[in-house]
Amino acid sequence: MIDTAAFQGKTAKFYTLGCKLNFSETSTFARTLYNMGVREAKKNDIADIVLINTCSVTDVADHKCRQIINRMVRQNPGAFVIVTGCYAQLESQTIANIIGVDLVLGSNEKANLIQYLSNAWNNIEEKTPIDNTQKKTYHAVKTKDITSFQDSCSRGNRTRYFLKVQDGCNYFCTYCTIPYARGFSRNPPIKSLVKQAEEAVAEGGREIVLTGVNIGDFGRTTNESFLDLVKALDNVKGIERYRISSLEPDLIDDDLIEYCATSEHFMPHFHIPLQSGSDEVLKLMHRHYDRALFADKILLIKERMPNAFIGVDVMVGCRGEKPEFFEDSYNFIDSLPITQLHVFPYSERPGTSALSIPYIVDPREKKHRANRLLKLSDLKTQTFYAKYIGKEANVLFEKAARGKSMHGFTDNYIRVELSPTEAKEEYDNNIIKTQLGNFNFDKTALKAKIIL
Ligand code: SF4
Repeated sequence: MIDTAAFQGKTAKFYTLGCKLNFSETSTFARTLYNMGVREAKKNDIADIVLINTCSVTDVADHKCRQIINRMVRQNPGAFVIVTGCYAQLESQTIANIIGVDLVLGSNEKANLIQYLSNAWNNIEEKTPIDNTQKKTYHAVKTKDITSFQDSCSRGNRTRYFLKVQDGCNYFCTYCTIPYARGFSRNPPIKSLVKQAEEAVAEGGREIVLTGVNIGDFGRTTNESFLDLVKALDNVKGIERYRISSLEPDLIDDDLIEYCATSEHFMPHFHIPLQSGSDEVLKLMHRHYDRALFADKILLIKERMPNAFIGVDVMVGCRGEKPEFFEDSYNFIDSLPITQLHVFPYSERPGTSALSIPYIVDPREKKHRANRLLKLSDLKTQTFYAKYIGKEANVLFEKAARGKSMHGFTDNYIRVELSPTEAKEEYDNNIIKTQLGNFNFDKTALKAKIIL
């Protein structure tokens, strides 16, 4: 039994680390607590409840999580502190041992936040703890037993909604801990996702980003396909733009590319993790494709949607990436019509099979490789943007502070800047026709004028 009265009038603070999926899930935690009568705590107030949603993608992320937990405990004396997310699943005991943490929820348990919170409060009252360690508890089942799916469709800080369509992963790439942290691939049925998209429309949503861990694997638990989902969402009236946050190359069907090429609502914008352009390294990573397949997908996308923006994830300095493999990878990436690179330096993760690969890249060399790729990325992005200078484009604008420049994105994800004198509140969350001009000061956007 949940004692709803216990939640009334309490205040909460939230902190999210990591990916868009985590941000989307935190918004859902917040909404769930607000529905129980909890209010958001003001910035400088001490909250009654603190929830930290963690990430464990690198050892730096783990370190940052511990720092944030300690800081939030310090800044909110007496608060009931809940820690969840990937790090909470992988290192439950470590987190439970941090002074001030009251409840640790692993990946399977976070969907039942309210129930666990209510139980934990009851236990505290029964036990009347003498010291902090007595009231702590953690819940995290083994990876293979993670089966729950927490629905999440939330508005980010900006205009977009993030709709979680899938969770978990069955791929077990050698460097990655995500399958251990989030469990095997699973998804809700299409009809439930369509309903969530309709609810976003009712709240004024215009753009939805489909998020997940391995989205192309959608349908594994419901015998549906990702293309079925895309078609069903495309029919939801009111959503004018969809973007797909990331798709593994081997799971991008040619039919999906064809469908997006003619869809009015699925934008010409793809995000595809390559990780390495060297076949030797791809094999060491246990990726499910070779670079020829990757190139075929990119070229087909560009043939069917010449204006498509293609973002690509690349990992540098992973074990086994000898200098000649990196050069090969660099040249391959350089040769493709890619728009932007997201560069991640490899980080050693405990428990991963990559640790058995003997060749280790020196940290300085890793940094050097990352910098070379980041420069290549800037060059590619600016070359792409430059092609649109002087062209007309529809831009979905985002809220801006009064007196500041307003920003938004074209259908093919070019960032656009409207000067403070041109910016108007009524443009927020609206698609407006613009004339694209030159680069802004730091070359992160194209300046634009409204076409009246
Ligand atoms: S596809 Fe590979 S990198 Fe991506 S989540 Fe799954 S195991 Fe990790």
